[in-house]
Amino acid sequence: MAYKAKLHHCKVCIMTENHQETLKFSAEISKVLQLMIHSLYTNKDIFLRELISNASDACDKLRYEALTQPDLLQGAGDLSINILVNKDKRTVTLSDTGIGMSREEMIKNLGTIAKSGTQEFLNHLAEGGKKEEASALIGQFGVGFYSSYMVAEKVLVVSTRAGATESWLWESAGDGEFTVAPAEKSARGTQITLHLKEGEDQYLDTFRLRHIAQTYSDHISFPISLTDEKEGGTETINTGSALWTRGKSDITPEQYTEFYHHVAHSPDEPWLTLHNKVEGKVEYTNLLFIPSMKPFDLFHPERKRRVKLFVRRVFITEENVEVVPAYMRFLRGIIDSQDLPLNISRETLQNNPLLGKISESIVARTLSELKKKAEKDAEGYTAFWNNFGPVLKEGLCESISPKEQILEACRFYSTN
Ligand code: ADP
Ligand code: MG
Repeated sequence: MAYKAKLHHCKVCIMTENHQETLKFSAEISKVLQLMIHSLYTNKDIFLRELISNASDACDKLRYEALTQPDLLQGAGDLSINILVNKDKRTVTLSDTGIGMSREEMIKNLGTIAKSGTQEFLNHLAEGGKKEEASALIGQFGVGFYSSYMVAEKVLVVSTRAGATESWLWESAGDGEFTVAPAEKSARGTQITLHLKEGEDQYLDTFRLRHIAQTYSDHISFPISLTDEKEGGTETINTGSALWTRGKSDITPEQYTEFYHHVAHSPDEPWLTLHNKVEGKVEYTNLLFIPSMKPFDLFHPERKRRVKLFVRRVFITEENVEVVPAYMRFLRGIIDSQDLPLNISRETLQNNPLLGKISESIVARTLSELKKKAEKDAEGYTAFWNNFGPVLKEGLCESISPKEQILEACRFYSTN
């Protein structure tokens, strides 16, 4: 035993001398971390939602890359997520068998590249935004990973990029800098270990963890399991099938809302939920939502659309898909096509005529639902119009076909 420990120690020394590198967080990220560590006390549970959400994204990304490189799936078994608790060490470890990160990706994604949302998050708080609100919006601002520091004093990330031969260890106490070093080869994917802060033992309680994971993440399409390292035994804690593939009558309003929170990264109730399985000329399922709250980047010049495109349950892309027009960028959710080829690349997607057909169909459905809502509840419609009217009106100038219907959905102040 002693011999083993010594050997291990030596190995670490060599690594330290040769390869360990200490880097500084970018200034904005450092500020976000300070807030996570010292100021955000409400709603800490969401760290688990954010880590599960990242693990699920990582599995989605691998499934997409494996369409063209099936070899990538070898080695680490099925795409899945595990939560491991060690009560002695006071750690919670989230593992996934997803895409993993290379050394460069770790440095960029976990510390040096601040996304546009990072600064917005800081502005929100600086401008007197409520802290409860801020922690609810963490996912939307793209700072989910850093929410680990609401409950952990130290975080270790070991990752192996799918297809790569080496593994890397990222480590930080969140105080301005982080280190990156080679790690012993581990299976494909990422393991994130949280060393809990004093007083956060609630997150060692498997009953509590199961409850949080089920509240926030039951709809995640990959199996999530929970293991107590000391007591042994692993149990699967979610349904593990994509929510939109289930029948409407099998889905509770709470499940819809929870899924909305996940895809939209938003804490509000959806103002409108559209769940349809469309058959005929084009076949697809849509599970789309209109938020009741305005997203922070609605009027950014990029006019980003945030509907995720799946092909037969495989996630393809969320960036710049023309499947909804820019004047409907308030839509959140997913579209899952039956007809698009699975080997479609993100690049050739834009020119696919089927996508145009799906888009037309989605636009028509959304407009007709808006009309129905307006007829049924004029007052409730005002809430939508106040948030998104100006966006929809862009369609009057930009769209070619459904102008009449857009006009019908518009409200204008009149002197009458
Ligand atoms: P977001 O998920 O909105 O991009 P996060 O702060 O939650 O923001 O995560 C930052 C980035 O770190 C992710 O975009 C991803 O590139 C990387 N990342 C985080 N967790 C994982 C993981 N489990 N596997 C692979 N990459 C990850
Ligand atoms: Mg995230």
